[in-house]
Amino acid sequence: MQHTQQSTRHFTTELAVIGSGIAGFAASIFALNRGISTAQVGNTGAVAYTTGYLDLLGQPDGVPHTMTDPWQALQTLRTSSPQHPLSRIAATDIQQAFAEFTAFLTEFGLTYTSPGKQNIMALSPIGTLKPTLCVPLTMAAGPQALADKAACVIVDIHGLKGFSGTEMVANLRTQWPALSTRRISFPDMERGEVYPEVMARALQVPATRARLAELLKGVAGHATVMGLPAILGMHDPDQVHAELERLTGLTIFEIPTMPPAVAGLRLRELFEQALPQRGATLIPQQKVTALTLAADAATLELSDSYGAIRIHAQAVILATGRFLSGGLDAHPDGITEHLLNLPVTQPSSRAEWYRERYTDPRGHPIHRAGIEVDHRFRPLRKDTSIFHERLFAVGSILAHHDWIRSRSGAGIAIATAYQAVVGAQRFIKKPE
Ligand SMILES: Cc1cc2nc3c(=O)[nH]c(=O)nc-3n(C[C@H](O)[C@H](O)[C@H](O)COP(=O)(O)OP(=O)(O)OC[C@H]3O[C@@H](n4cnc5c(N)ncnc54)[C@H](O)[C@@H]3O)c2cc1C
Repeated sequence: MQHTQQSTRHFTTELAVIGSGIAGFAASIFALNRGISTAQVGNTGAVAYTTGYLDLLGQPDGVPHTMTDPWQALQTLRTSSPQHPLSRIAATDIQQAFAEFTAFLTEFGLTYTSPGKQNIMALSPIGTLKPTLCVPLTMAAGPQALADKAACVIVDIHGLKGFSGTEMVANLRTQWPALSTRRISFPDMERGEVYPEVMARALQVPATRARLAELLKGVAGHATVMGLPAILGMHDPDQVHAELERLTGLTIFEIPTMPPAVAGLRLRELFEQALPQRGATLIPQQKVTALTLAADAATLELSDSYGAIRIHAQAVILATGRFLSGGLDAHPDGITEHLLNLPVTQPSSRAEWYRERYTDPRGHPIHRAGIEVDHRFRPLRKDTSIFHERLFAVGSILAHHDWIRSRSGAGIAIATAYQAVVGAQRFIKKPE
């Protein structure tokens, strides 16, 4: 990476990644693992909203039925929805992508369970269950305790909105009779409203952990397992979790809270610290305002508080998400792609964006809008030719999937990022 000091700052890199959601971060991780120099630019996006669970495929496309075996579900998907992004990637590559992504998180103190053969039935903030492939280690004992029907106390916190032990017990009682709930006040936050992020940062301090541990022991009763809202540290949650288990003698698990929540913020902060340590140039909280693609290089333009920046790259991965993150724009007369005006596959008119009933089990056509790509995840023009050989697109911006409905948000992001980096690697001509 070269950096020359002029009024416009110039960076030269092999790969530029646009977007800092799971897809963009995954692309940077896969590129760095392959020795590809990488610059990533991204504004704040949906990553802060995630539960921290990494879903692969929890529900077949358009069918409200929970899948226990996501690999079997993938095979069915290949027949029912061949254009779905996951249908275009070999199961072995998806497995490798998850393994590499979770290994990176584990290396930086946020251990994840390994991608297994079955989905894990993980707890939602309201005590319902959702199928997912990998969960943070801090949350792993919850699904296990549910499966074992272990005596367990859900602890909620005075002043914490959107997380109720009573609601959780009410929703789980029939499947988990030995579940009960107690409420505590968080140390030094006994009055008024409390926030997960503030408590998580407070638990970075050993003295706060010791005080919380005493409170937890006081409400454990006969239970040996305890569930808490996800507040166990912002950095190195593995360590905070292990220490609370040691101090209390209990098996402890976290449950994600309503977004924006600690589990997503942890991921974002980990990526922002870890990627520069691994050699990436990361320009967070900024948007690329223009992207030009020439025969020999791509140029990204943006600016920060020090002035204009130009990034010159051999290949570019577009991971700008859908509407919430600004990758796609919805107008009265149609949906457009924000940066390059790439063609967007979409319903033929606005009247067809939504079905009549909000809860229609088939979902809404607008949620499948997105851009078309070839087998290497390069965007296509309307005539199906490649838009530019240096451009790749990954994650939720792609067409033909409804990740919310199919419980496949992170899976699409991680697997398509992997495939695009492998494609870009061939183009950049790095040895395997
Ligand atoms: C409420 C909620 C809960 C979720 N829960 C789960 C879950 O339990 N399990 C799961 O697997 N997934 C979950 N997800 C999905 C997951 O967080 C991601 O949304 C999904 O994986 C898609 O990721 P992405 O990187 O493609 O897009 P996004 O996460 O949308 O990221 C796109 C990024 O691009 C940036 N960007 C856009 N335009 C530009 C530009 N011009 N220049 C630079 N940057 C730009 C945005 O700021 C953003 O950072 C959840 C999402 C939400 C919103």
